[in-house]
Amino acid sequence: MDQHDSATTLKCPAPHTRPAATASNGSDPVVTVVEHAIPGLGISPQLRKDLADGAWRFTGGWNLVHTGSGRCVLPLFTPVNLGPLREAAALLAHFDWTLPAEVLRATPGLQEEAYALGTRVTAAAAYGCPLNTTETSWMVQPPSWHVTLTDLTGEPVGGVFCSNYGDAEATAVELGSYEGLGGAFADITISRENDHEWRLRCCRYDCGVVLESDEGVAQVSTADRDQLVVYAADLGWRQLDDRRLLCPACSTAYQSLHT
Ligand SMILES: [Zn+2]
Repeated sequence: MDQHDSATTLKCPAPHTRPAATASNGSDPVVTVVEHAIPGLGISPQLRKDLADGAWRFTGGWNLVHTGSGRCVLPLFTPVNLGPLREAAALLAHFDWTLPAEVLRATPGLQEEAYALGTRVTAAAAYGCPLNTTETSWMVQPPSWHVTLTDLTGEPVGGVFCSNYGDAEATAVELGSYEGLGGAFADITISRENDHEWRLRCCRYDCGVVLESDEGVAQVSTADRDQLVVYAADLGWRQLDDRRLLCPACSTAYQSLHT
């Protein structure tokens, strides 16, 4: 079973710990884990008690919890989306979270590291930004080769961009045999653009998704960076700053919940 698809309800037996999510209708608080991030750590919905009627309600944010005790692992000062908590769990994976809470509390450096990480997660969540990003999303590549079809008057009537000369030559031969010259097309030429071109890669460390055309058949490159940013935004990419953009999946997982 995919660990991300499973949902588990755990009893929280430790009354001295602060539960991540509690139900008010029983003697023991209940913690619901919607995703097992790493062994011993899960992600649970963040609930807040309504002082007016005493009911626990979902805040829209999430907590990272020790599944053995239901205790929150990170001090969080704003509603946090799933992405930063998955990242935080990976950063804490060098501790053995399958151990009991009492043992973990006595582990040297654990509480200090969790507190510092909670501060980082809170700051990143407020900006809708991953904890770890690459320095830039921009990737530069040499100018493309262009196979151009021209009609009987010499006007270009179509073309194909290729990343290298070998592909351009093969494309020209293929087009020539498929379309046939002397009919609608008078000539096929191969030329090269002048400017270096740019592609975009998701800036979340370890993601690496590259911007593709909306049909998903080819990576998109152009010499005009502004044009590429507009195209990426149309496909759901989110710009963090001049150098960094998030792919649609990361944009959703890291979207700020701060209102
Ligand atoms: Zn991504």
